[in-house]
Amino acid sequence: MSATLPITRPSRPGGDAGIPSPSCLAELAERVAADLSHLDYPKARRWTLPRVVEGQEPLDVLVVGGGQSALTLAFALRQERIGNILVVDKAPRGREGPWTTFARMRHLRTPKAVTGPDLGIPSLTPRAWFEAKHGPDAWERITSIPRGDWNAYLLWFRDTLDLPVRNGTSVTAIEPVIVKPAGSLLRVTLSGPDGVEQRLTRKLVLATGQIGCGGLRIPAAVQALPRALYAHSAEDIDFTALAGRRVAVIGAAASAFDNAATALEAGAASVEMFIRRDTLPTINALYWMDFAGVMGHFAELPDRHRWRFNRHFESAPNPPPPTSVARCTAFANFHLRTGAAWRRATVRPTGILAETERGDHEVDFVICGTGFDPDPAGSPLLVPFADRIARWGDRFTPPPGEESGRLARFPYLGPAFEFLEREPGTAPFLRNIHNFNGSAVASMGNSAGAPGLRFSVPRLTNALVRDLFVEDADAYYADFLAFKTPEPEKAAFRSA
Ligand SMILES: Cc1cc2nc3c(=O)[nH]c(=O)nc-3n(C[C@H](O)[C@H](O)[C@H](O)COP(=O)(O)OP(=O)(O)OC[C@H]3O[C@@H](n4cnc5c(N)ncnc54)[C@H](O)[C@@H]3O)c2cc1C
Repeated sequence: MSATLPITRPSRPGGDAGIPSPSCLAELAERVAADLSHLDYPKARRWTLPRVVEGQEPLDVLVVGGGQSALTLAFALRQERIGNILVVDKAPRGREGPWTTFARMRHLRTPKAVTGPDLGIPSLTPRAWFEAKHGPDAWERITSIPRGDWNAYLLWFRDTLDLPVRNGTSVTAIEPVIVKPAGSLLRVTLSGPDGVEQRLTRKLVLATGQIGCGGLRIPAAVQALPRALYAHSAEDIDFTALAGRRVAVIGAAASAFDNAATALEAGAASVEMFIRRDTLPTINALYWMDFAGVMGHFAELPDRHRWRFNRHFESAPNPPPPTSVARCTAFANFHLRTGAAWRRATVRPTGILAETERGDHEVDFVICGTGFDPDPAGSPLLVPFADRIARWGDRFTPPPGEESGRLARFPYLGPAFEFLEREPGTAPFLRNIHNFNGSAVASMGNSAGAPGLRFSVPRLTNALVRDLFVEDADAYYADFLAFKTPEPEKAAFRSA
């Protein structure tokens, strides 16, 4: 079913119906409120059972990260009447996720019609927001959503739903605590504007994005260089400082091209892009994946199938969008070096000497568009117990010829994104840590990107509801036995 227009825009004399008007977003917010009121069943009431431990009431769910995954999850939990939650993000308000920091493309890579955070409510869709903000004509004119608009949509989503996000607050430590009779809790250290605080929570969701599990992947040859001479594409880069300098970009995916373009546009003397393969990839596997079977049920496939899908996905990286390529090829000082994996990099008086499979090149600065590492051991948050988390390499032995060292380092997750123990019985608290970030892809498929949210968030929400309920089964039974409230109509009938 296609999203219907939630509002009609007044046409202005002169045919300027596309002019933005704040009153339209206000109207849309009213429409959202009406839609949600139609779904307000059962009437809002808290059902999770409060407890007091160490003088505080533990949260039901603490979500680390305030990007689109966290916001969508917070909304879904609210719909299930789980309100004792907190979402924290280390970034300031409006700077969550990659959109205003290291995402250097002009438009989203996802098709404009994407849904996800809305969880099926038309007035909450990106399209409804865009049309209310810019007009239906503007929607017809675009082929993909501008990056800044996507960020603005997410902020509007958060504000309109009044989601409980605390910005400028980092989670710096996680510690398991067993508290009788409250069961297994997690003590989480938060560091924010008001100092350091410890919060107890029953469930912890790591909605920490693509870097959120293992960290940045830097080729070994580049790691040998002084840190001031290279950056990862997901880091802050002072592009103005690259004006007049020779820049190397390693990698050929979308981010590599967007960083190369940003350097060229900032006046770099030259940009050399180095890729291992002989040609640029042309097939976007994400388009194949965009159907309910694989998006909703990848996690149910046998390990051997999941491994093979992942291996093929890994061996066939997504192509850069044509617009990102065009931003680079518009410059005569952009050069693509194919079949040119770096073997060694050394510093010379005149610059960095890169020795590659196809000859030597001298550059002044290196940007690595080389992706992310999935290994939990690379995350400062997980280091204290990373050796107790099961990886794919612990649980699955691929047939000869199908090995992959990188795939083996991904966490091997349970069906609700929860970490599993490497050795059963050694870290039962792991089942309360749900790894809802980029490193979930090997176990769960493409869950964090906007198209995945409508499948992944309900899956995770259902599991959180189940666990919070089942853990307190005895208390619910006692509460049920004590339930003596007469049904209003029946009471009236008896007294008549
Ligand atoms: C350059 C780039 C372009 C992309 N383009 C698209 C696209 O077009 N379409 C698409 O669907 N996907 C795209 N993606 C994938 C994209 O990352 C996700 O779709 C989206 O950002 C995922 O949302 P998220 O909430 O899971 O993670 P993020 O948006 O990355 O949010 C994670 C948040 O966690 C916070 N955080 C991390 N650690 C901590 C901590 N310890 N304490 C507190 N806060 C913490 C971070 O500050 C961050 O705000 C792109 C990714 C990149 C890198």
